[in-house]
Amino acid sequence: MLKISTRFHAGSVIVNDLSDPQNIRLALRPDNAAAFAQWFYFRLQGAAYQNCVMHFENAASAAYPEGWQDYQARASYDRQNWFCVPTSYENGVLTINHTPLSNSVYYAYFEPYSGEQHLNLLGDAQGSGLCQIDDLGSTVEGRDINLLTIGNQVESDLKIWITARQHPGETMAEWFVEGLLGRLLDPQDPTARALLDQATFYIVPNMNPDGAALGNLRTNAAGANLNREWENPTAERSPEVFYVREKMLETGVDLFLDIHGDESLPYIFVAGTEGVPTYNARIAALENRFKAAFAAASPDFQDEEGYPKAAPGQADLSWANNWVGNRFQCLSYTLEMPFKDNNNLPDDDFGWNGQRSLRLGEAVLSAVLAVLPDLR
Ligand code: ZN
Repeated sequence: MLKISTRFHAGSVIVNDLSDPQNIRLALRPDNAAAFAQWFYFRLQGAAYQNCVMHFENAASAAYPEGWQDYQARASYDRQNWFCVPTSYENGVLTINHTPLSNSVYYAYFEPYSGEQHLNLLGDAQGSGLCQIDDLGSTVEGRDINLLTIGNQVESDLKIWITARQHPGETMAEWFVEGLLGRLLDPQDPTARALLDQATFYIVPNMNPDGAALGNLRTNAAGANLNREWENPTAERSPEVFYVREKMLETGVDLFLDIHGDESLPYIFVAGTEGVPTYNARIAALENRFKAAFAAASPDFQDEEGYPKAAPGQADLSWANNWVGNRFQCLSYTLEMPFKDNNNLPDDDFGWNGQRSLRLGEAVLSAVLAVLPDLR
């Protein structure tokens, strides 16, 4: 007897028919208050050594159907080790074909980052003795919006802001923050010490804890796409952005990185602020220095593939990186990692995953150090 369940953090799928293991009929469940669908995460029980063919029949109406080309779903028996399973996309249907070796197995769009991991991350950071945790306010559903502050917090310090997971299905963003934090809080790491000599870091590891818990791809509990709320956030519809933005206005910002995952492009890349009104030659030079240093620090990073650049003055200021870059006239990036894999350094067994995101988060600090003297 097969069973599929989703009653855990980020669990999400619709089961239409589970009577035939060779034809399990599923559907992607949209965000709780918006039409975006792409994230799935479910547990299958009772299927040891049975060939299971699982069809997502509405995959063509996903938020990014091109995200299914050359995509492999992830699976795990213990929720610690995640691996790729054979996946195909034909005639609008996404199909996972897998024979589990145990009676209990999990399948997900990408390696999850749970609510318990999030709270452990905060606890470990605070336990380091180098990190102050502040509560900026509550989400729509009453979860905590936490800010981690690391550094001396003196006026002369450069103010480095990092936010992750505005889009809650992009779990690689919080893995990235875990890597960055681990290095920054390592008192034996010379890069961390040099950085904290001159800079204070403000880090929001999860901008969208409601959406994460609900298993949403893209929106918060009120259906708001937070990365389109930065011009006019409200405490009712987008408190996550509202409170973080208020704090930024209080501290100032000298460098901003907003961490994301991209459904379609199999590369690691950044998107800058070339289309905002205050963009200038100083920012352009900083961008070039940052990208060169990042590529030197991590062969995963590249600058050939990415989003089309906005024309001068045409940037959408409702995006976090554009709003911040324009308001504070600082170096400001959206950083994207793939759901698929990095095609320049592919891994057929695991694809892009949590550990690789974590390593990239460690590496980015070298790029931050390289631009530090010129940020202000
Ligand atoms: Zn995103």
